[in-house]
Amino acid sequence: MTLKTNPTRTKLSGWGRFPVLDARTLAPRGMEALKELVLSEPSLIARGNGRSYGDSAINTKATIETRHLNRMITFDPVSGQLVAEAGVLLCDIIDVFLPRGWFLLITPGTKFVTIGGAIAADVHGKNHHKEGSFRSCVDWIDVMGSDGVIQRCSSIENPTLFDYTMGGMGLTGIILRAAIRLRPVETAWIRQTTIAATDLSAVMAAFESTLDSTYSVAWIDCLGSGSRLGRSIVMVGEHAKVEQLPQKLAKSPFRTQIKRKWVVPFDFPSTTLNHLSVRLFNSLYYFAGSLKKGYRLVDWDTFFYPLDSILEWNRIYGKKGFSQFQCVLPLDRSKNGLTALLTEISAAGAGSFLAVLKRFGSQQSAFSFPMEGYTLALDFPVNSKTLVLLDRLDQITIDHGGRFYLAKDSRMSAATLHASDQRVEDMKMYRSSLVNAARFSSTQSERLEL
Ligand SMILES: Cc1cc2nc3c(=O)[nH]c(=O)nc-3n(C[C@H](O)[C@H](O)[C@H](O)COP(=O)(O)OP(=O)(O)OC[C@H]3O[C@@H](n4cnc5c(N)ncnc54)[C@H](O)[C@@H]3O)c2cc1C
Repeated sequence: MTLKTNPTRTKLSGWGRFPVLDARTLAPRGMEALKELVLSEPSLIARGNGRSYGDSAINTKATIETRHLNRMITFDPVSGQLVAEAGVLLCDIIDVFLPRGWFLLITPGTKFVTIGGAIAADVHGKNHHKEGSFRSCVDWIDVMGSDGVIQRCSSIENPTLFDYTMGGMGLTGIILRAAIRLRPVETAWIRQTTIAATDLSAVMAAFESTLDSTYSVAWIDCLGSGSRLGRSIVMVGEHAKVEQLPQKLAKSPFRTQIKRKWVVPFDFPSTTLNHLSVRLFNSLYYFAGSLKKGYRLVDWDTFFYPLDSILEWNRIYGKKGFSQFQCVLPLDRSKNGLTALLTEISAAGAGSFLAVLKRFGSQQSAFSFPMEGYTLALDFPVNSKTLVLLDRLDQITIDHGGRFYLAKDSRMSAATLHASDQRVEDMKMYRSSLVNAARFSSTQSERLEL
C-alpha cells in the first residue's frame, strides 16, 4: 500500500527569517509514510519547529516536516524516562509533566523546539557548566537511515551513530523517537539571584564564583565600551523546594500565573533598530537589572524562556530578517577573545537588543557545538554593513581558537567553518561511511560543504 504524502511548495526560513527559500515540504503521517519518503526522495532534510535561525532545516527539494510525529509513548515515574516521538515539542512536555513534578533536564532559551531539533543541534541551556548539553538527558534514540532501516543508538549501542547524530544537524538520518530523562522538581519556581557586573572581568568572575549553581546566564550590554566593556546583568538560579516558598505559593507549588502573551503585529521598519535605540535599550536594561539585584523567586517561564512571552518577536528586525552570531571560545582564551569581539561590536555600533553570555563546562562529542569556555550570542539585522561585521567577528573567533553554533548560522562560509573546527573532516568521513548519507542535506550543509 502506498501512503502518499502530498508535497507543498512554500517560502521557508528559520527563526531569523534569512534566507527565505522556495522549498518543497512534505509532512508524513506516521512511520510508514516517512519511510516511503526516505526511500524515494533523492535529497531531503528533517525539520522540527524551524527555531534554528538559518537554513539548517531547509532542503529546497524535500524538507520533511516532523509535526505529525508528535506522540508521547511511555513514561517511567521512577526513573523519569519519557519515550516520545521526535516531533513532540518541549512546551508540550512541560505542560504535561511539570504539574506532576517533572521538568526538562536541559532546555534551550525557547520551549518551542522539538525533541528531534534539540537532539540534532545537541542544544544547551543555562546549566551546561554543570550538567552538559541535551545529550546528558538522552538514553537512546531511533534513527532512520537513507535505506529506511531504523537503528537504535545510545552511548553503548551503535555509539558512533549516536555521537554523530547528537549535534549532527540532521545529516546522519531522521530521528524518529527518543528516550529522555526528566528532572524531578518540587515546585515550578526558581530562586534567582541577580548580580550587576560593571565590566567583563566582573561578569567572568561572577560566572567562575557560581560554578556550583545549577543555572547561570548573563545579559551583556554589547555596546558598552571603555570601562563599561562587557557590563552585564548575571542571573543565577536553583529550583526552589516547597519549604523555600512563601506559605501562599507552597499550597499549590506548581501553580504560576498564566502570563499574558504579546504579539509583534507587523514587521518593524528597518530604521527602528538603529544605533541610538539599541544603545538606549541596552542602558535601560542594565539599569533596570541592577535595580533588581539580589534574591527573588521567579516562575519557570520567566526564568527559562523570557523571550517566549513575545510571540513573533523576530519581526522586530524588519522584513530583511536577522542573523545570530554565536561562538564559543576556549576557557583560557575567552577573556581576550571576548574583549576583541565586544570592542569590534561596540565600535561598529551594530549590536542587538539582547546579547547573551554563558559559561560552558567541558564536553566530549563528535560534532556538538559546546567546549569548555564562554559562549556569546547576539543578533544583527541583515544588511551589507552587518554582514561585513559578522565576517570580522568570525575571524576574531578563529584567531582565538573558537568555533560556531550551526543552529544559529545562516551566512558563514565553508572556509570559515573548516578553519574553525577540525572535526568537520571527521564528520564528512563518518557520513561517507554511512549508506547514502549524502542524501540528507540542507541548504546549510551544502553551503558549508559538510
Ligand atoms: C528564541 C530562541 C532561543 C534559543 N535559545 C537556545 C539556547 O539557549 N540554546 C541552544 O542550544 N539553542 C537555542 N536556540 C536554538 C534552538 O534550540 C535550536 O535551533 C533547535 O535545534 C531548534 O529546534 P527545532 O525543533 O525548531 O528544529 P529545526 O530548527 O526545525 O531544525 C534544527 C536542526 O535539527 C534537524 N532536525 C530537526 N528534527 C529532526 C529530526 N527528527 N531528525 C533529524 N534531524 C532533525 C534539522 O535538520 C536541523 O538541522 C534558540 C532558538 C530561539 C528561536
